[in-house]
Amino acid sequence: MSLFRCLTVLVALFPLLSLVACATSPTGRNQLLLYSDADLDQMGAASFEQQKKEVPISGDSVANRYVECVAAAIVAQLEPGQQSGWEVRVFQSPQVNAFALPGRKIGVYAGLLQVAKTQDQLAAVLGHEVGHVLARHGNERVSQGQLAQMSQAAVAVAVASADMGSETGQMVMAGFGMGAQYGVILPFSRSHESEADTIGLDLMARAGFDPEASVVLWRNMAAASGGPAPPEWSSTHPSNETRIANLEAHMEAAKGMSAEARAAGRRPICGP
Ligand SMILES: [Zn+2]
Repeated sequence: MSLFRCLTVLVALFPLLSLVACATSPTGRNQLLLYSDADLDQMGAASFEQQKKEVPISGDSVANRYVECVAAAIVAQLEPGQQSGWEVRVFQSPQVNAFALPGRKIGVYAGLLQVAKTQDQLAAVLGHEVGHVLARHGNERVSQGQLAQMSQAAVAVAVASADMGSETGQMVMAGFGMGAQYGVILPFSRSHESEADTIGLDLMARAGFDPEASVVLWRNMAAASGGPAPPEWSSTHPSNETRIANLEAHMEAAKGMSAEARAAGRRPICGP
């Protein structure tokens, strides 16, 4: 969302919110944030505790140590004020996935370790997840959902006050719902993914991992998911081709950072 659009939307709907809610992400993108960091940290911590109740933490101490080692190397590259309090856990599930929550919580499903086959590929995943947290994507997503709901309520009032037949009114509401989903929420999710990829590539490189492993990881992910990917406009994730092109565009700079890190003695050895 451009800053102009962010402000225009907010001034139109909620004049007071616009004074506090437009922020900037680490890559310079304008963001709409309606909640405080403390609120989101609390939501993230509660969701992580819930997750632990629903999916057991892996008892494989080697796997847990391996993931913690890679995460520690990445987190060591953050600003001093951002390095403490990260919790990274391996969950006992065959799912090929990982997730990040506000409050510095990261979960890796054991199945992912079959697809992220080296420490450098795992560093690409963990850098990406740390990127989501640093860039406050959780706050932005909750804020966008909230705004979409409030906007939909505003349209419902307009439809009700206009003298439209109920069938027409319902069609307008259904059309608006589709537009809100495909036009507002999903494209931001895709931009979140690309932004997390860029931040993650930078972090893994500065930690001394091989940034080119990020491209291998997404090729592995494509092979593991099997079958053609859903069309990008209806997917919450960018296509693997889009991701790889975005990573390649930043690769020369990342390789330079990785070489510098390794020359300075940052050569993580975590396994597997
Ligand atoms: Zn992601």
